[in-house]
Amino acid sequence: MTHSPVLQIAIPIPFRKVFEYLPANGDEKIAHLKPGIRVKVQFGRTTKIGIITGIISESTYPREKLKPIIEYLDDVPFFDEQHLNWLLWVSQYYHHPLGETLFTALPVALRKDKIPKADLIKNWQLITPVTSSATKNLSRAPKQLALFNWLKIADSPVSKHTLDEKFENWATPMKGLIEKKLVEITTAEPINSKAIYRHGSAPTLNDEQHNAVSKVNAAIHHFGAFLLDGVTGSGKTEVYLNIIEKVIEADQQVLFLLPEIGLTPQLLSRFKSRYGDSISTMHSGMNDTERYKVWNNVRQGNTQILIGTRSAIFTPFKSLGIIIIDEEHDLSFKQQDGLRYSARDIAITRASQLNIPIVLGSATPSLESLSNLRKPTFTHLILKQRAGNALKPRIGTIDLTNQKLDNNLSPQLLNQIKLTLARDEQVLLFLNRRGFAPAMICQDCGWCAVCSRCDRHMTIHHQRQRIICHHCGAERKLPAQCPQCSCIDLRPVGFGTERMEQLLIKLFPETEIIRIDRDTTSRKNAMHTLLAKIDNNKGQILLGTQMLAKGHDFPNVTFVGIIDADQGLFGADMRSAERMAQLITQVAGRAGRGDKPGKVAIQTLHPNHPLLQILINEGYPSFSQSALQERQAAQLPPYTFAAMIRTESTQLGFNFQFLNDIKMIFTEQNSSVELLGPAPSPMERKAGKFRTQLLLLSQSRSQLHQLLGNTLPLLEKLKSAKKVRWSLDVDPMEMS
Ligand code: ADP
Ligand code: ZN
Ligand code: ZN
Repeated sequence: MTHSPVLQIAIPIPFRKVFEYLPANGDEKIAHLKPGIRVKVQFGRTTKIGIITGIISESTYPREKLKPIIEYLDDVPFFDEQHLNWLLWVSQYYHHPLGETLFTALPVALRKDKIPKADLIKNWQLITPVTSSATKNLSRAPKQLALFNWLKIADSPVSKHTLDEKFENWATPMKGLIEKKLVEITTAEPINSKAIYRHGSAPTLNDEQHNAVSKVNAAIHHFGAFLLDGVTGSGKTEVYLNIIEKVIEADQQVLFLLPEIGLTPQLLSRFKSRYGDSISTMHSGMNDTERYKVWNNVRQGNTQILIGTRSAIFTPFKSLGIIIIDEEHDLSFKQQDGLRYSARDIAITRASQLNIPIVLGSATPSLESLSNLRKPTFTHLILKQRAGNALKPRIGTIDLTNQKLDNNLSPQLLNQIKLTLARDEQVLLFLNRRGFAPAMICQDCGWCAVCSRCDRHMTIHHQRQRIICHHCGAERKLPAQCPQCSCIDLRPVGFGTERMEQLLIKLFPETEIIRIDRDTTSRKNAMHTLLAKIDNNKGQILLGTQMLAKGHDFPNVTFVGIIDADQGLFGADMRSAERMAQLITQVAGRAGRGDKPGKVAIQTLHPNHPLLQILINEGYPSFSQSALQERQAAQLPPYTFAAMIRTESTQLGFNFQFLNDIKMIFTEQNSSVELLGPAPSPMERKAGKFRTQLLLLSQSRSQLHQLLGNTLPLLEKLKSAKKVRWSLDVDPMEMS
C-alpha cells in the first residue's frame, strides 16, 4: 500500500509556519490535493479554514500524530500556482505569517467556511503535454479513450454543457481520466466579452504622449517598469487609455490601481465612456458579496479591466497583460496594519513574475520610484507639457509675517478671490484640516479640550456639536462651559474647513461655496453630488482638504489658494517635506487646466524656506533631485533599506523591555544592520496605549532580511513579547 501524501496547510494565525495534515479520511479525490485548495481542519479545540500550500511525501512528525483534513471546501484552487508563488514571496518579503498573508489576499467571503453562492464555473481540460504512454494506458478503457481523443480536438477547456451534448454518461470516464492525471478541472474559460473601444471622444495625442504610449506598447508581453512622470494636466489619463487599447486587442486583461475610487468619479466616467461595460471596480465601499463577485469575474476572465484601490492588487487574473498604478506616490498604496504591504512594490514583483509591463504614473513621483530609474528595467517617460491649450500655472507666495490676520485669509488672497470671481471663474482653496477648529480653549483659565487617551487637542465639529479626537476617534458633546472653571467663554482656536466655509459664506454671500472633505462626502454618492454642483460657467469657490488635490480636472478653476503651507514644512518625519511638496504641486496643478491660465498663491510665514523656493522657482523635478541627494548623503531610504518594529502596551516599561530584548538578540547576530532606538513613537500615546519603536537600517536589503528571517522565530517566543502588541513594518512609510 502506498503512503498517502502529507499536506502543508497555511492557517490564518500569527505564527510563521505551516501545519501538516493528512488527506481527508477515505479521500480518493486526487483533484483535491492541489496547492490553493481551501480546507477545514481541526486546530486545537476549534476548527479553522486553511489553504493547502504544499504536498510532501513525508512529515517530520510521526504520521499517527497528524490529523486528517475534515473537509475540502473547493474543487479547484482559487489561486493558480503562479499566483500562489507570488503570495509566498509577499509573505516572505514582509516576514508576515503565510496563513495571514493568504487570507489577506482572499476576499472576505472566502475566508469563511461557507462557499459563496456565486456559481463557480467548472470546466475540464487535458493536462498538457500529453505523453505518448498516456494513451497506451487507455487501451482497456474504451470510453475513457473516446473521451480523451475527443478532448484532444475539442476547444479546451470544455464546459459541462458541451459535454452533456456530446457524451452520454461522461462523468465516470472523466473521473478515470482525472485519476490517471490526464485531465484536470479548471475554472478557466475562453474570454468572450471583448471590450469595445469607442473612438468617439478621444483627442489626438501630442508627441510626448505618443512617445509614451508607443514605448509601453512595444514592451507588451515583456516585463518592464515605466515611470510616467507627467506634470498635472499633461494628459496621463489619456496615455493610460491608449496603452490599454493595445492590451485589450491582445485579449489580455488590465489592472488599474488608484488611491481612492470615490474621489475620482471623473476618471471613472472617462474610462467608462471609452471601454463601456468591460470595466469592473473594486473598492472599500462594496460589501463582501459584491467584492467576491467582481473578484471571481476577473479571475475567470469575464471582465477585462479592473479598476481598484490597494487591495485589488491581490485579485487573480486569467490573463493579466498590464498593471497601471495612477498617483503612484500616494501613501494609500501602503497598508498600515496587518500585512503592511506596499501595493506598488508588490505589483512590480507581480509584473516581473508574469512577464508583463507595469506603468507607474504621477505628477509628483515618489523618491523610491525616481531612484529606481537607476535600474535597467526602469524607463522614464516624461510629459513636460500640459495637454491641449492649457498652460502651467504661475505660483507665488504670500508672506504672512507682520500681517495680523483674524481669519487666516490675507488681503492679497481675498483680492485674488474677488478678481477671479469677477471673471466668472472658479477659486479652489486648500486647507488640509477638517472640522470647525483644531482646538478649543477657555479664555479664563486656559483649559484646552485634550483627548485623555492621546494627549492631543480635540477638534471642534460645530455642526455636529461635538469635539472629536482625530487620532483615536474619541468624541464628546461640545461643552457649554469650561469643565475646570465653569466659565462659558470657550473659544475655537484656528480654522478647519467647516469654519472656513462659514467665513466664506459671510465674505462672499453671492457666491456658491462647495466644501469637499471627509465630513461632507461620507454619505454614499455625496462626492458625486458635490462635484455635479461645480458649474463651469459660474464663479464658485471650492474649499477642501487633500481630497480636492487628487486627480480632479476642473477646467474653470483659475486661482488656487493654499491657506496654510507651514504645517508640513517642519514635520518630524523625513518624508514630511516630500509629502508637502507633492501636495502643493498636486493642488497647484488644479489651476488653469482649461484654456485659461492659472495662478497659485501659497500663504506662509516662511516664504524663504528653501523647499518652498526650489519648488516654486524650479518645480517638483528639481525639488525631488535635491531631496534624493539629501537622502543619499544621510544614508536614508531609498538609498538604504529600513524596517520598523513597533510596540504598543499599557505601560511604557513593557515596550522598552521587549524592544531591548530584541535589540540584544539582533546584536548577538553580529549583523551590519544599524539599530536606532528603542525610542518613543512621535505620538507616544494613542487611544490609551503607549507606543515605542525600533528602527533597523541597512545598506544591504539581503542582510536586513537575513537578520529578520533568522531572529523572528526567537522574538515570537520572548517572554516580554506577551505583554505588548507588536508589529513589523518592512519598508515603513512613516519612519517616525
Ligand atoms: P493628467 O491625468 O495628466 O492630469 P488628463 O489626462 O486628465 O491629465 O488630461 C488633462 C486634460 O487635457 C483633460 O481634459 C484631457 O481630456 C485633455 N487632454 C489630454 N490629452 C489631450 C490631447 N492630446 N489633446 C487635447 N486635450 C487633451
Ligand atoms: Zn476655564
Ligand atoms: Zn484620542
